[in-house]
Amino acid sequence: MANIKCIGVLTSGGDAPGMNAAIRAVTRAAIYNNIEVKGIMRGYRGLIFDEIVPFKTNSVSNIIQQGGTILKTARCKEFMTAEGRQVAFEAMQREGIDALVVIGGDGSLTGARILAQEHNIPIVGLPGTIDNDLNGTDMTIGYDTALNTIMDAVDKIRDTASSHERLFFIEVMGRECGYLALNGALATGAEAAIIPERVFESDQLGELISNGFRKSKNSSLVLVTEGDITGGAMTMAERVKKEYPQYDVRVTILGHVQRGGSPTAADRILASRMGAAAIDALLDDQRNVMIGIQNDKIVYVPFSKAIKKNKPVNEDLINTLKVLSI
Ligand code: ADP
Repeated sequence: MANIKCIGVLTSGGDAPGMNAAIRAVTRAAIYNNIEVKGIMRGYRGLIFDEIVPFKTNSVSNIIQQGGTILKTARCKEFMTAEGRQVAFEAMQREGIDALVVIGGDGSLTGARILAQEHNIPIVGLPGTIDNDLNGTDMTIGYDTALNTIMDAVDKIRDTASSHERLFFIEVMGRECGYLALNGALATGAEAAIIPERVFESDQLGELISNGFRKSKNSSLVLVTEGDITGGAMTMAERVKKEYPQYDVRVTILGHVQRGGSPTAADRILASRMGAAAIDALLDDQRNVMIGIQNDKIVYVPFSKAIKKNKPVNEDLINTLKVLSI
């Protein structure tokens, strides 16, 4: 069993609902195992600029239901350099922190991997991102809540869309990953999802129109993943105006509303299980792994695999959406 007496926990990069539940679980599981906990504020910034606070069991009371992160999060350019990471390492030594738990997305876990390699520190990561874009885990913390937020918003847009017989493009988050758009479309009965994974193999908008879209419907909703690969909802709307002027088009960009709100039961449970598993992993001498969940079982995913881009999209979801939108 590893000899870990004190851990640091931080949240980094984009925030996600459920991060607080994860901080709580990490803290409580550590203290249960007689490990001291230090909360590091503002991601890697807190290590470099010395914002580190001792955590007790009650430091994480009454936060499981709150969105955001009590540790705050930040993007830290100093940590991108070897000199910055040396300063972070020295802070850990000074504070007596033997191991780190990093909660964040692929950027944060990339940083964790480099720090662990350079300074031989045990680090365990938790996938905290609404995008569900990390490899080796079926779900990331925050994804389910964001999906539910999208569902509520799209349900409302549907009411107004059908009153006016309009075509709505609704832009959702996800960066290079179409899961929010695809499952958002399934959950709301939308016509289609335009996702980055399909951009290079087909003209998704052209196909949608030529498949007789909107033929028997009084409104159409299409979810579009944000970002340069798809071009986002505005680009789609401009194309329709130019190429298919018969349609009355509108755009809604859901934006940061998708990051907020109280986490769903699924996210609270996922974050709690993963947070406790992070401490088990450290005690089990695991290092440089992300905690994942596959078929409802906790798994350890090497950082190198977790941060590899291009999580494969689930083809069943694409096919089901196509079948159900006739
Ligand atoms: P996310 O974790 O949500 O993907 P970012 O990509 O912004 O968010 O990464 C968060 C932070 O992780 C960055 O501000 C930086 O401090 C650290 N980080 C990201 N990529 C690297 C890298 N290649 N090397 C070192 N640190 C990194």
